[in-house]
Amino acid sequence: MGSDSVDVLTSTKPTPIPSQEEDPPNPSTALLSFDTEDSSSTTTPHQKPTTTILFISLLLLTCTTLAAAVAFAFLFFSSASQSTTTTATATATAANIETTARPLTKLQKPVVLLISSDGFRFGYQFKTPTPNIHRLISNGTEAELGLIPVFPTLTFPNHYSIVTGLYPAYHGIINNHFVDPYTGDTFTMGSHEPKWWLGEPLWETVVNHGLKAATYFWPGSEVKKGSWTCPLNFCRNYNGSVPFEERVDTVLNYFDLPNSEIPVFMTLYFEDPDHQGHQVGPDDPEITDAVARIDRMIGKLIEGLEKRGVFEDVTIILVGDHGMVGTCDKKLIFLEDLAPWIEIPKSWIQSYTPLLAIRPPSSVSLADVVAKMNEGLSSGKVQNGNRLKVYLKEELPGRLHYAASDRIPPIIGLLEEGFKVEQKESKRQECGGAHGYDNAIFSMRTIFIGHGPQFARGRKVPSFENVQIYNLVTSILNIQGAANNGTALFPTSILLSSP
Ligand SMILES: [Zn+2]
Repeated sequence: MGSDSVDVLTSTKPTPIPSQEEDPPNPSTALLSFDTEDSSSTTTPHQKPTTTILFISLLLLTCTTLAAAVAFAFLFFSSASQSTTTTATATATAANIETTARPLTKLQKPVVLLISSDGFRFGYQFKTPTPNIHRLISNGTEAELGLIPVFPTLTFPNHYSIVTGLYPAYHGIINNHFVDPYTGDTFTMGSHEPKWWLGEPLWETVVNHGLKAATYFWPGSEVKKGSWTCPLNFCRNYNGSVPFEERVDTVLNYFDLPNSEIPVFMTLYFEDPDHQGHQVGPDDPEITDAVARIDRMIGKLIEGLEKRGVFEDVTIILVGDHGMVGTCDKKLIFLEDLAPWIEIPKSWIQSYTPLLAIRPPSSVSLADVVAKMNEGLSSGKVQNGNRLKVYLKEELPGRLHYAASDRIPPIIGLLEEGFKVEQKESKRQECGGAHGYDNAIFSMRTIFIGHGPQFARGRKVPSFENVQIYNLVTSILNIQGAANNGTALFPTSILLSSP
């Protein structure tokens, strides 16, 4: 029964084609090139003068332009933030000094430790002193404006995209919970049957190459699939009550194994600060405390690696799965308000918020539902109606890559930042935090920091989507990865070349 549905889903799964959009131009590069053009134009008028007047005029013009340029540069640099100036300097320094990867001194093979801090919104690193995270940033490579999650910006879809390089439509985990349209089976965050988990996660790729992997929690890591058996001592069954310190100690203990037995790929997962973010929103002292605690865990890890003499050899990739935005009781949309246009019964809804996913019975015209819902939402008569737009999934913006799976319900609603959908009005008033929105929304961004022999020190790179991380890890480990949605050349754009 189950295997039939897997076959159907697998066979209808289009081959993932590397199809990354070009990175947006770096604004600092644009400024630099403007400067360059400006200065070159001031030096071009060195042609043979025809008259003395013309020469003097040109000289005066040149002087004026230079003076203006100097004044502009002074104003620009004095008004620019300290971090921008530091960034530009660091980037230039790293680019000037480092071009090739640093050799390993103690380990025999490259080792990648992939760490996730759940819901670590980009910018949290500035909420409070985070000396350990900043040590990794200043001696490593950082996505300057954060890591872009995949849509929907939820925990399970994103963690599994990070380790497979696939968009949710291709790796199958299209939501934290959903219903298989063929079998009626329900996926939950506790589902470990391999039929749900498509694609090839990094731990499986690593084991396929005869190497060892270890997972200290990661969505999908407990699933026995292909060559990955979730081996005892190298694969932990999820238990949120395990203290963070114990998780760090276990990972450190792997480095006490004989060199040839040290897993080359390890994961480490922390539930914070997502856990607090949902309850209190992103701007609460509880978040600040949670961020400080994550920083202490990174400090404990660094200290343990230094004690073992392997800190500079180990590649640490520190990421989050998504960001967080504040939500409150006034930013609500009630489906019952659409009744004058169309009744949307509860039984059609697969998830409400922030990802509104609707699967009406097959007898109902999908196009009709979408048209009537949007008519009501845009009528001006539905509270906050203009904050929600409903789509047939095939008509969602292509950049969301959220259509090519039968598991994705046929009608999807996109909400504006911070708004929520509920079935009907209630007296319940709550403020907190949420994620799951369009991944173009800046508050959904998280962090990317790479530290290790193949990452230049102090380098800043433009933001990129987390589906690139799979190729990055296989490239560092020097193994062939499975087909995925990342760009084959991405690792060369961010890593130092081999020595
Ligand atoms: Zn999460």
